[in-house]
Amino acid sequence: MSSLRHQALNELAKEEKNISHYNGKKISAMFNSNVFTGRTMREYLSDEAYKSLMSSIKSGSKIDRRMADQIASGMKAWSEERGVTHYTHWFQPLTGTTAEKHDSFFTIKSDGATIELFDGDALIQQEPDASSFPNGGIRATFEARGYTAWDPSSPAFIMESGHGKTLCIPTIFIAYNGESLDYKAPLLKSIAALDKAAVDVCHYFDKNVTKVTATLGWEQEYFVVDETLANARPDLVMCGRTLVGHAPAKGQQLEDHYFGSIPERTYAFMQDFEQESYKLGIPLRTRHNEVAPGQFECAPMFEECNIAVDHNSLLMDVMAKVAKRHKLKVLLHEKPFAGVNGSGKHNNWSLATDTGVNLLSPGKTPRTNLMFLTFFVNTIKAVHEHADLLRAAIASANNDHRLGANEAPPAIISVYIGKYLTEVLNEVETRVKDKFSEQDEVILKLDIHKQIPELLMDNTDRNRTSPFAFTGNKFEFRAVGSSANCGSPMTVLNTIMTNTLKEFKREVDALIEKGEKKEIAIMHVLRDYISKSRNILFEGDNYSDEWAEEAKRRGLNNFKTTPEALEAYVTEKAKQLFFDNGIYSKRELEARHEIMLEDYVKKVQIEARILGYMATNHILPAAVNYQNVLLNNVKGLKEVGLGEETYAAQLNLLKVISGHIQKINDNVEAMIEARKRANNEPDMHKRADMYCKEVKAHFDEIRYHADKLELLVDDTTWPLPKYRELLYLR
Ligand code: ADP
Ligand code: MG
Repeated sequence: MSSLRHQALNELAKEEKNISHYNGKKISAMFNSNVFTGRTMREYLSDEAYKSLMSSIKSGSKIDRRMADQIASGMKAWSEERGVTHYTHWFQPLTGTTAEKHDSFFTIKSDGATIELFDGDALIQQEPDASSFPNGGIRATFEARGYTAWDPSSPAFIMESGHGKTLCIPTIFIAYNGESLDYKAPLLKSIAALDKAAVDVCHYFDKNVTKVTATLGWEQEYFVVDETLANARPDLVMCGRTLVGHAPAKGQQLEDHYFGSIPERTYAFMQDFEQESYKLGIPLRTRHNEVAPGQFECAPMFEECNIAVDHNSLLMDVMAKVAKRHKLKVLLHEKPFAGVNGSGKHNNWSLATDTGVNLLSPGKTPRTNLMFLTFFVNTIKAVHEHADLLRAAIASANNDHRLGANEAPPAIISVYIGKYLTEVLNEVETRVKDKFSEQDEVILKLDIHKQIPELLMDNTDRNRTSPFAFTGNKFEFRAVGSSANCGSPMTVLNTIMTNTLKEFKREVDALIEKGEKKEIAIMHVLRDYISKSRNILFEGDNYSDEWAEEAKRRGLNNFKTTPEALEAYVTEKAKQLFFDNGIYSKRELEARHEIMLEDYVKKVQIEARILGYMATNHILPAAVNYQNVLLNNVKGLKEVGLGEETYAAQLNLLKVISGHIQKINDNVEAMIEARKRANNEPDMHKRADMYCKEVKAHFDEIRYHADKLELLVDDTTWPLPKYRELLYLR
């Protein structure tokens, strides 16, 4: 029987190309067609219901029951016209995927009448049987209830799958006592907290500001491989990454893929998933090839943070679904292939006022510049003080393969601001004097904006290696993993910014109370922040060894693994920070920490099992079979009376292969023992540590010998699709 690999390669040659395209359709015509937007609401809701919904979105207040009934009925009418039969609360539990449980509108009344029904109760709250979602011990077994609760600030949408259509209500997911069990609930809290803190600070400059919105524009990297080939690899099917596989003769060294022309089959897939995304209101703007072969990126226009996070989760689902139509598999894993660049998800973040100002965009006048400088310096200070939390927010078993692997940003968090702003900060630091005096007026007349030329917006002044870079009018957090839910890093960023702005206001107010002029007080506090946060600023090459040493001297942390990095969540400092700003109770934070450790353990555990299985059931048999071929050959040569010089190479090869077989076998056995030891460890942190240090330690060893065998064994009997096939054939 030929192997799955060979069947897949045969099929690939015969594959009919699915050529979907826009077919003359305008994007604006399909955009939002499956979304219950403000405009749709106007059409399907009474004036009263519409206004009540809008005001509750703006203020975050509760919607009363009667209004909820009206809104539900409008949603039902709208979706039924589009062929929807079912609805679901759509949420983002800490498993990292999205969750849905469909209910039909259909009900049977007590008198036997059958009708379609969707009322306010069903819209506002559901009680999914949620005992199997990760909860870190928050839900004791006697109280296994979890609730999903409607988030009116994210619009409902219709999800199409094949010919099925479901009305999806974005919700938060909480335990019976209100503790959060998802990404959205804390994110919403952090957005509201930041709104308040930022508005307060804005009032130093502009009393008209009543709302500040955190904005997020993510850039999603991904790989595309042929589905049939991927299905012949148990590691890709079960773990989303290859656990073995020798590097191809041609990798990314020619750098011919970046921004190259998009292969036709992938291009068709892109056009297809883009159209599905537009219907759902995801405002995709760009698509291009990435650095690695088979790697691509897409990015939308930025949106309000909560909606952007929902849209990213949705996009990841849509991509996976649509890929199937094209017999492709999209790999969102951070490191699907060793020796080839991994995938990230840049999170572009800024703050926008309801007066239309981007607070991280340098202004045109000294006054608006002081506002810019305030938010800019506060962000730097926030990152400086809480870099460990940002690192924790992006920690995962997957991302460990990427951070610090000399390609992605290192695990050291630092901030890049560019030459011009560095000069501006230097100037503020040296020219603002300790003594409050008339001199300080000079600073205010500095016209800082003249030193922030347009050049800043230019690509030339960007440092691509920085994990947290200022890019002209926003900060770009680049260390986020490609498969991650952006909710986690955004919650941390919003929270640390909230806390910093609150402190800033306290300090400025204290100086004003002492009789200082507002602007002078602000400049003094900013100068102090600049001095204190210097350590986090780094303009050089983040990939270099010198930086790792320099960072160490500066006292910056370099947590290379998830179990280490996650500890930042449960320090007293972190607990206080999240508690003070109303994001997590101490218990919630501990539970979350536990969940993330458990997730890490499970991921490594599954990989270890799959690796052991592939080694034993795929790789060793292929090696042994090939040895038998060699043995027969040697026997035959001997039989016909040829001398040893005719089979010396074969004998040597036999020995070399045996050596690799032995090593693989030993490591697989040792890995199983290490797993057993780790599983017996009751403390989750210790267990995660054991998986990290003792179980994973065997991965590289097994891989090394498996990859050697791949080079030695007859290609026609090697069972696993090779890197060159996965990366180049489609
Ligand atoms: P790049 O050169 O990195 O692609 P772009 O200006 O094209 O830079 O922006 C990249 C991402 O940043 C896009 O998703 C874009 O929507 C987002 N972005 C731009 N401005 C903001 C902002 N004010 N807040 C958040 N994201 C933004
Ligand atoms: Mg970018």
